[in-house]
Amino acid sequence: MADLKLHKVRGNLKELKLRRMDELLPDYLREAERQELGLLDAMDGLTTEELCAKRERALNHRLKKARFPFVKTIEGFDFSFQPSISKRQIMELSNLGFVERKENLVLLGPPGVGKTHLSIALGILACRAGYSTIFYTADELLQWLISSLADNSQGEKLRRLSRFQVLIIDEIGYLPLNKVAANLFFQLVSCRYEKASIILTSNKSFSSWGELFSDSVIATAILDRLLHHAVVINIKGESYRLKDKRKILVDKERSNG
Ligand code: ADP
Ligand code: MG
Repeated sequence: MADLKLHKVRGNLKELKLRRMDELLPDYLREAERQELGLLDAMDGLTTEELCAKRERALNHRLKKARFPFVKTIEGFDFSFQPSISKRQIMELSNLGFVERKENLVLLGPPGVGKTHLSIALGILACRAGYSTIFYTADELLQWLISSLADNSQGEKLRRLSRFQVLIIDEIGYLPLNKVAANLFFQLVSCRYEKASIILTSNKSFSSWGELFSDSVIATAILDRLLHHAVVINIKGESYRLKDKRKILVDKERSNG
């Protein structure tokens, strides 16, 4: 009789998609028999476990959707190597107040100074905090938008992009953009303006954006919206990629000398 009941309850839990509760029910029943665990305590334990599992699934889904190319963390960032970055400012950004306020973050600097690293680390924190997030390289994002012109689906694609609470656009500036790309980028920045955050990284200073976008009027219009509510971090320093290479060279010179 008890077996039949258990079978029925587990069937109900499965149908309700409460997988974790279903898995744990036999353990809880044994506990209940041994320690006289009350119904309320058992429900507390089971529902808390189910909720944790649900949150974990949602986080994994957000992380998968975000398409980060690597996993990077703030803890893994060596601030002593890059003294032009204020650790305090990055820790403050890690609280994601700027995302809540729908402000932008722009990371500027030469290659290898950690722009992509920090943008991913903040993006992962945003996912953890429950914000829908997506990562694109500028090149792939613009290619995707340009391809949408063929079937006139750019409006729908821009709307889809504007639904993400955090949009990371990595490495704008490596390739010059024609007017069509510049125009699409302007539309993208406009449709997110004051509605949702952009984290943008670039190796080009703002003064060369006119050249980058092949049009100084559109570049000014983009910067106007992008920077109205934004934190800009200008990283000046050496490439972290060359750090180990340099060390190997120094060690080699020492051992030769
Ligand atoms: P950028 O985007 O500015 O060109 P990346 O963020 O891609 O530079 O950094 C290049 C590599 O060096 C990455 O593997 C990154 O994790 C690492 N890196 C850069 N700066 C630091 C740092 N200060 N501490 C730890 N790792 C770093
Ligand atoms: Mg980069």
